[in-house]
Amino acid sequence: MRTRATHGGLLHLGVNALLLAAVILGGVSAMAQEQAQAKPPTPVAVRCGWLLDVRTGKLAAGQVIVVEPPKITAIIPASAYQPAAGATLVDLSKATCLPGLMDMHTHLIDGADGEYDPARPLRRTGAQMALGAIPHAKATLLAGFTTVRDVGTFRAFVDVALRDAVDAGIVSGPHIVPAGAYVTISGGAGALTGYAPDIELPLELRYGVADGPDKVRERVREIIRHGAGVIKVLATGAVLTRHSQPGSQEFTEEELRAAVEEANKAGLRVACHAHAPAGIKAAVRAGVNSIEHGSFLDEEAMQMMKQHGTFLVPDLYDDEVILANMSYPAEYREKEKAAGERQREGVRRALQLNVKIAFGTDAAVIPHGDNGKQFNSYVKLGMSPLFAIQTATINAAELLGWSDRVGAIEPGKLADVIAVEGDPLKNVRLLENVQFVMKDGAVYKNTFAAR
Ligand SMILES: [Zn+2]
Repeated sequence: MRTRATHGGLLHLGVNALLLAAVILGGVSAMAQEQAQAKPPTPVAVRCGWLLDVRTGKLAAGQVIVVEPPKITAIIPASAYQPAAGATLVDLSKATCLPGLMDMHTHLIDGADGEYDPARPLRRTGAQMALGAIPHAKATLLAGFTTVRDVGTFRAFVDVALRDAVDAGIVSGPHIVPAGAYVTISGGAGALTGYAPDIELPLELRYGVADGPDKVRERVREIIRHGAGVIKVLATGAVLTRHSQPGSQEFTEEELRAAVEEANKAGLRVACHAHAPAGIKAAVRAGVNSIEHGSFLDEEAMQMMKQHGTFLVPDLYDDEVILANMSYPAEYREKEKAAGERQREGVRRALQLNVKIAFGTDAAVIPHGDNGKQFNSYVKLGMSPLFAIQTATINAAELLGWSDRVGAIEPGKLADVIAVEGDPLKNVRLLENVQFVMKDGAVYKNTFAAR
């Protein structure tokens, strides 16, 4: 993470504020509807005014998405659709439908409330963190993000518990691929710092701290055993960690390779936090699937990523949020300023080189639910709106290894569908205010129904 999510205190958004925001954005009826539709009706026909094929950018007019929850079974022209017996019709004939969005870099557990305080995770129980994350998960889903890769929490496995609660229908939230814990060196970018040296942290707060390849293997195996869906390693220092420099390498290539081998043996992929070129190159050679942030990418690093098919996950919108927040220590804002400008240059070059890019916001640094604001940051940097949407749909699905499940509206895929009024290819900012959200065939938000 660019920042420790715990320092998301700068956001000045309490849980109540987030809930209020959810009510304002979603409308009270949408919240009530969510309660009522906890059990998805079967079958469902979603009539779309236009349907975006995110692979080609083609908008097809008048299409019906036929859903047997949780999956899409067919796409039929509205003129040819014969309603099946008992089917529920969802009328989105004034809207453009597109696949549920995906954020590959969130921290749902940490942040977005309280003041800046490095010792904050020490003062909260796992239960407090888990319950505090419920509105984060809900805000993310209602913003149209139906899948997230959640890349770390300071108290291990609270993210795994959140995923399980969402999957069990206890909590409303996106599909979550949780990292379980940060795999990081002692005192590294993913380690808790800022406490006196004679304090011994409980295991949950240093679960993924490892020095040396053998220790890395052991920690990764334990993290997998406790239910992680992805492994998050930190190869370089961080912006929002005290005394940590984003330009310094942390794990060695040998340590990173140990993490990748253990993850891959268990069928998991590896996300790697890395700002500095040496750390990025070591991680790419070690076989990680994505470089998070990539602030100081150089030409060689980008060529290597292209050659290895390594994804870049650039968090760009958070730069604006961090620089605008005066409650961050000056140390962080100065590091961010240097990293942010270089990062934008790097992403421009990565676009020219066709390095694979997937959408990731580092939400917690930005308020949960504001994820869609990053589309505009991507477009300002030179992406077409279609390309920006692809980073959060088919590209993200490829990065997760979930291309058969999500990322496009196609028969056989999960019925994760969102809708907006207007054409997001003309105005990508429409995705900042998603008006309809379906996940697994269940409707969580529909402002069209209230009209
Ligand atoms: Zn992060």
